Amino acid sequence: MMGSMAGDDLQLVLARSADLRAASRAVVEHLASAELRPSVYIERGGRLRCQALLGYRHLLDGFPPWTGVIGRTFATETPTILQDVREDESYLQAHEGTLGEVCIPVRAGGRTVGVVNLEAPRPMTDPELASVHHAARALGAWITKAGGVPPESASARLVRHSIALAGEQDLPSVGGAILAAAIDVTPLNSAMLLVRASLRDGFAPEAVSGPLAAVLRHAPDESISALVAFTRDGCSAYTVAGAGEGAAIDPGVEALRQAGAVSLAVLPIGQDRILVVASDEDTSLDTGHLELLELLAAHAAACLRTAVSVHRLRAKAASDPLTGLGHHGTFHTELAEACATGAVGVLMVDIDDFKAYNDLYGHPEGDRVLCSTAVALAGGLRAGDSLYRVGGDEFAALLPGVESESALEIARRLHGCVEASGTTLTVSIGAAAAAPGETTDSVLRRADRALYAVKKEGRDGVALARRGGRT
Ligand code: GH3
Ligand code: MG
Repeated sequence: MMGSMAGDDLQLVLARSADLRAASRAVVEHLASAELRPSVYIERGGRLRCQALLGYRHLLDGFPPWTGVIGRTFATETPTILQDVREDESYLQAHEGTLGEVCIPVRAGGRTVGVVNLEAPRPMTDPELASVHHAARALGAWITKAGGVPPESASARLVRHSIALAGEQDLPSVGGAILAAAIDVTPLNSAMLLVRASLRDGFAPEAVSGPLAAVLRHAPDESISALVAFTRDGCSAYTVAGAGEGAAIDPGVEALRQAGAVSLAVLPIGQDRILVVASDEDTSLDTGHLELLELLAAHAAACLRTAVSVHRLRAKAASDPLTGLGHHGTFHTELAEACATGAVGVLMVDIDDFKAYNDLYGHPEGDRVLCSTAVALAGGLRAGDSLYRVGGDEFAALLPGVESESALEIARRLHGCVEASGTTLTVSIGAAAAAPGETTDSVLRRADRALYAVKKEGRDGVALARRGGRT
């Protein structure tokens, strides 16, 4: 037995429904009976949100598209009819003893906006299936007539952005997510994150977004100083639309206005960052917008603290504590990436008779020499090359895009840089260039072989291992 209303009654109740929730409620009341459990889900911000349901004690909400029968029906825009839910792997149980399920997409304004779902402890009958199809069509028509699914409120959008922000871990992604949220929850269309360069230095742009991105990134120092000054007392500051002539505007802010940033809001994010939201239109903000931005700033500060810690820990884990260079593990990872991308030269550098030097002058002096050798070698590299400390007195360099002869030339240059650094120590360098398709092990073996050849010949020199040839 279907719900208490006939199909035409549904049209009448829908016609009286003031909003989407009321319309969804009308649909589930129309479909519900002692055995039938209906629900309506509408997509909001990339997830399917329950608008109404009857007969359930347990609710599943926020389905990502493709998750469960409901998510899959929405994503494929295709009705799902199951006579036995146990046979469908994507079925997620919301009520014990369910056997039949029908899920029909709701289409409005030419696109799928949600689903109507019905479950029963037995297979569904044909009249019931027809009734769900009818209800989904009626709800779709109601939504179309209402002008579509109503837009999310600014606070609902902020909730969505905040969840996304909390999931980001690397600094640029967190910065980008903060700017996207700020633009989405206010009527302003551009944003910038300022970061304090160091305790003594001032702030500088870290990330920008929106049509005013270039204006904000290239804001003159006096404008940046004015923006920073707004946050000193802990306030959130914003310009007021339509402010008359003679309004007291700082020259730095006036310069931004002249460049197109007509409306501005400025808020501190923790101690080291400032959020600037801007628009090229004279736009009014109100307390509601400001409160959303303040909530965003507080949440963003916490996310940034985590991202900064993760960034520092990652950098620490990837580097040698003495010289700050990448270590053995970093070198092998980056060598593999470089070999997969194209030509790459590899240099293996080893200090000559370093053990004796250590024994003579002591370990701390040895450490100092390791650091100065790192600086000397780095001085001989081109931008884009990388240097690593891969063992006690052994360094490696990766030279992207470099073939054999250039690798040898750079090896000679590095050898000369160490010589010119004023140390009494010398280095031996083995060079090799990866041939197309060559494994990392093979190119490393060749560079090591070249290094060994230099050592054997009396040290203090360079050698190139040609592929398949002699060193
Ligand atoms: P060769 O010319 O054949 O390379 O001779 P070598 O004496 O340099 O021999 P080898 O490269 O095998 O010796 C490396 C020495 O580096 C051994 C050790 O005393 C020293 N060493 C390794 N790690 C450190 C470190 O972190 N600090 C210091 N001061 N010395 C280190
Ligand atoms: Mg050595």
